[in-house]
Amino acid sequence: MRPPILNPLFAAVDSIKGIGPKLMKPLDRLNIATLRDLIFHLPNDYRMRHHLTELDEAYVGQYVVLDLLVTSVRESAGRGPTRILAQDDLGNVMALVFFGRNGGWARRQLPANEKRRVSGRLDRYGDMLQIVHPDHISPVNEVVNAVEPIYPLADGLTAKKLHFSITEAMADVPELPEWIEPGLHAREQWPAWRDALHLVHQDRHDVARSRLAYDEIFAGQLAFALLRKSNRRQQTRPRPGDKRLTDALELPYSLTGAQQRSISEIAGDMASETPMLRLLQGDVGSGKTVVAVMAMLQAIESSGQAVLLAPTEILARQHFDGISEMLRGLPVEVEVLTGRDKGKAREAKLMGIADGSIQLIIGTHAVFQDAVIYHDLALAVIDEQHRFGVNQRLLLVKKGKAPPHMLTMTATPIPRTLTLSQFGEMDVSRLDEKPPGRQPIETLVLSENRLDELADGLARHMDGGGQAYWVCPLVNDSEQVDAVAVETRFAMLQARFGDKVGLVHGQMPAERKDAEMERFVAGETQILCATTVIEVGVNVPNATLMIIESAERYGLAQLHQLRGRVGRGSDKSRCLLLRGDNLSETGRERLALMRSSQDGFHLAEEDLRLRGAGELLGTRQSGDVGYRLATPEQVHTLIGTAHDDARLLTETDPELVSERGEAARIALYLFERDYGVRLLRGG
Ligand code: ADP
Ligand code: MG
Repeated sequence: MRPPILNPLFAAVDSIKGIGPKLMKPLDRLNIATLRDLIFHLPNDYRMRHHLTELDEAYVGQYVVLDLLVTSVRESAGRGPTRILAQDDLGNVMALVFFGRNGGWARRQLPANEKRRVSGRLDRYGDMLQIVHPDHISPVNEVVNAVEPIYPLADGLTAKKLHFSITEAMADVPELPEWIEPGLHAREQWPAWRDALHLVHQDRHDVARSRLAYDEIFAGQLAFALLRKSNRRQQTRPRPGDKRLTDALELPYSLTGAQQRSISEIAGDMASETPMLRLLQGDVGSGKTVVAVMAMLQAIESSGQAVLLAPTEILARQHFDGISEMLRGLPVEVEVLTGRDKGKAREAKLMGIADGSIQLIIGTHAVFQDAVIYHDLALAVIDEQHRFGVNQRLLLVKKGKAPPHMLTMTATPIPRTLTLSQFGEMDVSRLDEKPPGRQPIETLVLSENRLDELADGLARHMDGGGQAYWVCPLVNDSEQVDAVAVETRFAMLQARFGDKVGLVHGQMPAERKDAEMERFVAGETQILCATTVIEVGVNVPNATLMIIESAERYGLAQLHQLRGRVGRGSDKSRCLLLRGDNLSETGRERLALMRSSQDGFHLAEEDLRLRGAGELLGTRQSGDVGYRLATPEQVHTLIGTAHDDARLLTETDPELVSERGEAARIALYLFERDYGVRLLRGG
């Protein structure tokens, strides 16, 4: 249960004075639903207002506070602005300018021959300084804050309103007990939690901000440490295997060193009484499937069942086909189970899973529905981990008589620091070596102005029977707007290539998306016009051409993922990166890196260097590891300390019952990492 001290923070945001139904929409767009969300909405900049006594000291662009004597009101003819002249103590004259209906109001606020304190941004019109629409006008004795926090806004929510609401909300914020380790707290000279919040809402204060970031990172690491610990406490059946199946498996290639290392790490984990909790990280094409197959065979040798969970229907079926082929001749019963199975056929499969005659199950979410009862689930493999959250994984744990061993796989190569921040509860194996003989994907950068030539080239590619992906530009963060862009491009391609063009984007219903993908897999369509939904996609060896529009707008990691869709067959593959005219320095560097390297881990490190980790951090399901307060740089610098501190705390106080442990529980709830607490006795 949530500690009562936090209750005021989780009150709905409309309980704050002045926030009514009209503001709910813009607040929602800013992800603000509770009072906590509101106070965690931190300024992204601060504006300094300079208190000046003489206009001579001022310059254009400066935010100033001035005490001025109003001298005259000048109304220009017609619809022009109202200009009110005022002067400083030395008689320097400037203008205060108001457009439209503000003129009348301004004349009342600024009567002639009176002094007023005015603030705003200085600019120049002709040879006179002026402020257009001052943001503050008051009697001269009223205090104007020298610093104004600038918040990210949404349509329908003014800066003034937001600032006011945050100030109101801060009044209800309780002081919380300290969860940071005292030595660290002192060394960093961090303020207390509530003070830190106050400080960052007032002024630029890096130390306070770093404390707030640390809290969030620490809560994440603590939740992971608890997950890990609770996993360690569990007992399961060791599944050492007897090599009967793994030795009999005939592969048309020899395993790479990285594959052998990963296989033996996994084999060791599975032979233990502690359930395995391991992440297998390997670039597209690094050969994760065979590693998973070896683990699954080991589970079956130890008389257990294995399940392989794929993120989509198509991927599940492709895995089923590939793995059935690989295991041909071995005495292993393999089945596929997805949402598409219905009626009698489904019943038969469920029966086989329940009586143990089906030993290896490949499927989608359908494999952990209530109706699916396993005879003896020994190992669960999750492909493309980031589509599954921690909560879903915990569901899967309950499917075994004893907790199953868990292997999660991801094709997103991420830098080590980020592995910690996203998968901190797991042990990690890395496939950092590609199978030999891979043809590099020829990567070219072209100007977007050459679309016509490109279409000609595409026509030749298709005449030869080839297939291609065409990825459309990310217009902005809105899926809807992207859909429009992709449909426009689709129409253009269709005009030229007719029904040889398919279309997928995130706004389509799942079934239509699947159907379109399948048409492409089957070769019915030759061009697949798409948004990045194809990122975690399918294997179409015949697709040897990847075209990415406005490539400079994507992060390196994402470009690399997209490029990984081609280069899967024996034919030479190409990736064409189309760039717009206004290429930034970073954009240029990014595209150059894409040309020069095909190493996902290297590109991921470079991506982190070039753009920060925002995109990489977004790869795991939201609600799990999204950071609200911590910036990528802060994650980078603080995660090591947070990780060690969290581990230490769970060693010394595994149930979080000491004074600091109790405080740490509060932090877990504050950042909604409370699945960690729920694993504790009395949690
Ligand atoms: P991932 O899932 O990591 O993207 P896959 O497991 O699908 O990669 O493997 C990609 C391709 O590489 C498959 O065609 C597979 O047969 C092949 N492959 C895997 N391991 C090796 C190896 N050691 N040597 C040669 N080819 C391999
Ligand atoms: Mg794979």
